[in-house]
Amino acid sequence: MLRTHTCGELSISDIDNEVRLCGWNQKSRDLGGMTFIDIRDRYGITQVVFNMDVDEGLCKKARKLGREYVICVEGKVIERSNKNKKLKTGDIEIIAKGLKILNESKTPPFTIEDNTDGGEDLRMQYRYLDLRRGPIKRNIELRHQVLQETRKYLDREGFLDIETPSLIKSTPEGARDFVVPSRMNPGEFYALPQSPQTFKQLLMVSGFDKYFQIVKCFRDEDLRADRQPEFTQIDCEMSFVEQADVLQTFEGLIKHLFAAVKNISLDEFKTICYDEAMQYYGTDKPDLRFGMPFKEMNELCQNNGFNVFDKAELVVGFNANGCGTYSRKNLDALTNFVIRPQIGAKGLVYVKCNEDGSYKSSVDKFFDQNALANWAKAMNAKEGDLLLILAGTKGQTRKALGELRLEIGNREGLRDNNKFAPLWITDFPLLDWDEEENRWNAMHHPFTSPKEEDIPLMDTDPGKVKANAYDMVINGVELGGGSIRIHKKTLQQKMFNCLGFTEEEAQSQFGFLLNAFEYGAPPHGGIAFGFDRITAMLGGKESIREFIAFPKNNAGRDVMLNTPSAISERQLKELGINLSC
Ligand code: ASP
Repeated sequence: MLRTHTCGELSISDIDNEVRLCGWNQKSRDLGGMTFIDIRDRYGITQVVFNMDVDEGLCKKARKLGREYVICVEGKVIERSNKNKKLKTGDIEIIAKGLKILNESKTPPFTIEDNTDGGEDLRMQYRYLDLRRGPIKRNIELRHQVLQETRKYLDREGFLDIETPSLIKSTPEGARDFVVPSRMNPGEFYALPQSPQTFKQLLMVSGFDKYFQIVKCFRDEDLRADRQPEFTQIDCEMSFVEQADVLQTFEGLIKHLFAAVKNISLDEFKTICYDEAMQYYGTDKPDLRFGMPFKEMNELCQNNGFNVFDKAELVVGFNANGCGTYSRKNLDALTNFVIRPQIGAKGLVYVKCNEDGSYKSSVDKFFDQNALANWAKAMNAKEGDLLLILAGTKGQTRKALGELRLEIGNREGLRDNNKFAPLWITDFPLLDWDEEENRWNAMHHPFTSPKEEDIPLMDTDPGKVKANAYDMVINGVELGGGSIRIHKKTLQQKMFNCLGFTEEEAQSQFGFLLNAFEYGAPPHGGIAFGFDRITAMLGGKESIREFIAFPKNNAGRDVMLNTPSAISERQLKELGINLSC
């Protein structure tokens, strides 16, 4: 080995030992008679001292080292007179006896420090340098740890890690496919998996009753901080199970990860059904680190001559506890927040519950103190609270109020990164009406089973059918989702039928699955987790990009590779692709 130790391990117990360290020149300081070098590797930083009196030539060589030069330093470990408590190796330093330059380096385009001067674009372009920085390096180490702990838990629970192909036929998960042209089959394409959904179900038919895979999935959809075109799932499936078994097994996984990685013991997960989540929090992924549930107010508020309320399908509000002292400016800011086009509310009604028991509202012209007192009572409000109310169509109003609730949570510091509120959302609708296409879509995916008792509704009132589907949500982030599957051919055909497939279309796209269901498919169900999201949450961040070694930017580009990029005429020709038509 070129080195005897890493740059992060030497301590008082190594004093007087001769050592050899390899790493990068983080920083050098020239104090005339002495030159100090901080040598850095994956494990830490060690201070090296070059002394003019001891070896003038060596000291001069050290002075010439540029930032990020790769060096090998030989010397003796001594105790430091002024110890650096911030550094793991801060009790010691090396008196250099030898210095070898293993490679030179151009001056990096940004500082390789925890707080760098590099902007996002530059850091992405030189991601290999960005990965040298402490915070990003630690994220990648965390990712490794989460990966190992996931494998450990699932292996212990008897799950088999089975790989499935990446060049496949479309598996519908609600996004567009990335497609790959086939040279050997001109004019034909593979799709990259949006998930291994159909394969894992086929593995159940094969009898592998517990499957998992930590697997890349690809979805061509608009990107956000928590979305990448390629991302990693912990994909799982089990046979001979009911919903409760799946929830229990995977609540166990998440508890294991929090305990092993963060030393946090999570409480029992709450379970809320979809309808309640929408009714009380306006979203299917509520952040339950704080309360402030919604109260529907139609009966209390309507038929009073206030048009906005009277005409609305839904009048709904919540009690922003303790916000009754918000100034005019704060309230205007909240109004501006909800009327932004992204939120789309028409306006915001507020009621301040004053300390003297009176009320001040934005609708004083229409509602007297008595009416406001009734609202306050309905929302369990006390002096010093603030009621925030929106009105309009049901779906949009709930959604807007949900955003407002989160905004209040942010303003009031209630969304603490060190607090975790895990829950299951269950009983999702099976289908979702697509206004544009004028047809039903699968809310989860087409392989999700309807609740047994709701199957007849598939013919009469498809929108009312509930599914055996569930999501795991922590702090308002959907970490995973899954379902009990359909395992009978006739029911699967019925589902395709609901989704507007003809029998022929269903057969041509999913014939392999329908056929497999004729050969003894066991009852089965499963789940998939967003691995990047889990890691980001355990790392206390929102953006998954910081936890992926080589991520893409918001436009889906890899700015380091500068791709996607054009391919040669020859490649196009071989693939039978003519771009001009
Ligand atoms: N395949 C689903 C997804 O990617 C997860 C599942 O149903 O197991 O969301």
